[in-house]
This record gives sequence, C-alpha cells and structure tokens, in this order.
Amino acid sequence: MSDRDRSPASIVELRDCWKAYGRVPALRGVDLEIGAGTTTVLIGPSGCGKSTILRLVTGLARPDRGDVYFEAAQVRTRDLPRLRLRMGYVIQSGGLFPHLSARGNVTLMARYLRWDPGRIEGRLLELARLTRFPADALERYPIQLSGGQKQRLALMRALMLDPSVLLLDEPLGALDPVIRFDLQTDLRAIFQELRKSVLWVTHDLDEAAYFADQVVLMHEGRVKQQGTIRQMLEAPADPFVTRFVQAQRHAEVP
Ligand code: ADP
Ligand code: MG
Repeated sequence: MSDRDRSPASIVELRDCWKAYGRVPALRGVDLEIGAGTTTVLIGPSGCGKSTILRLVTGLARPDRGDVYFEAAQVRTRDLPRLRLRMGYVIQSGGLFPHLSARGNVTLMARYLRWDPGRIEGRLLELARLTRFPADALERYPIQLSGGQKQRLALMRALMLDPSVLLLDEPLGALDPVIRFDLQTDLRAIFQELRKSVLWVTHDLDEAAYFADQVVLMHEGRVKQQGTIRQMLEAPADPFVTRFVQAQRHAEVP
C-alpha cells in the first residue's frame, strides 16, 4: 500500500506484523490502528508482545513481516531520526540519563536542535507546571528524585518537542499505589488538556479502564479483542478475555 493510501485519522498503524526474537515468537499477525487524539491502551499478560509493538512503532525493532506506519508514512530505517523527534517515549524505569540533571534531561534534544534558550526555558517551566514537577528540583540528578518525580520528569522529557504521539510502556508499573494513583489522576488531566495521541501499555485492567478510549487485549502475540472495556466485560470475544477479566481481583468489603 502506498503512503498516500493511509487514513489521515490514524496516527499509528500496524498491518499484519510478525516478529520473533530468534526462535521466540513475539507477534503473530498484529493489526492495530491508533486514532489521532485518542488514548489506546495495550493490555495483556507479561510476554504477550506489548513492548514489542512499541519497539516497532519507534523503529527500535523491525517486523519480520508486515508494515508499520506513523503519521501516514511507513516507518523505515532511513527516516528514523526525523520520525523519532515526533514521538515521545517513556519506559517503566524512566530511562533518564543519570549524569544529567532534571533540567539537562528534559532540554537535551531541544539544545541539540539549537532551540533559542528563551524558548527552551519557557517550555521547561510550562512542562514542570503541567506535570506538577517541583521547579526547585530541576537542578537535581535522577538519583536525588523520588520514583514519582522521575516518571514526571520522563514525561516532561517525552513532551518537550511537542510530539504527535506519546508511547508509554508501563510508566507507572514500578510505583507504589498512592504515588501511582496521584500520577494516574494527573496524567489523565494532562492527556485531556493536550489532546495527544497516546499508546499506553499496562497489565492492569483498572488502569486501562481509567485511561482508554480504546483497549487492545493481547495474548501470545495476537490481538484477542479490541474495543471498549465495556465490550470486553459484556461481550468477551474469547475464553481468554473472560479469564483475563476475571483474574483482576478487586478489593471487596466483607
Ligand atoms: P510484554 O511487553 O507484553 O511483556 P514483550 O514484547 O517484551 O512482551 O515480549 C514478547 C516475547 O518476546 C516474550 O516471550 C519475550 O520473552 C520475548 N522477547 C522480548 N524481547 C526479547 C529479546 N530482546 N530477546 C529475546 N526475546 C525477547
Ligand atoms: Mg513489556
């Protein structure tokens, strides 16, 4: 399919993507479409291929078969540096540069691109406000920050160049429940304010329900069901969906 045939309404698209690492299959024919301005949550048990999908979108991995599109253009090796500037990527551990201060982490790419210093400072402070990262912690190094602050910082860094998509790989997975709750609340407000396209990976159904316009449930490298949480609860497409939903225990008052 030529680049011109892509639907302008979808920001990311995977077409029949297959991927194996050596003999370990990771994706077995995945089709996926992320609507512009929407939040799609990829959910499924550990090892089902969620992170691999994000790696294909960023071009960190290539599909063995199938096509990946970003902003209506095919993700190809030669375009990667340019495409990546338009993607914000946050991983569970934050992936911050330990030898750079908070400020240094967030502004690195903008400085590399020779943004005007006033514009960099303005954007930095705007993001600190948006993510509720304490402005007086901007000179600290990652090791001097709490887990929640590190993830706020990773999000600031991902947003710095105003990307057209945010790719978040279990960004709250390592946080304790209270910090996690606060960040979930703030993140949802941020997404609503920015109207970004978001592809969010989690294995937590409650988190998916809280954020998702669309949920994509995966199992063993395949998409088992795609739709709203309500559809998954009311019309599970397959026994695995039922088991996955049932396996998420909720606190019950005796
Ligand atoms: P998830 O993010 O859903 O936990 P992944 O996409 O990370 O799943 O992994 C899918 C499968 O591919 C798993 O079986 C995993 O062990 C395997 N895998 C992922 N990355 C590698 C790698 N670099 N080398 C070998 N196997 C890998
Ligand atoms: Mg993963």
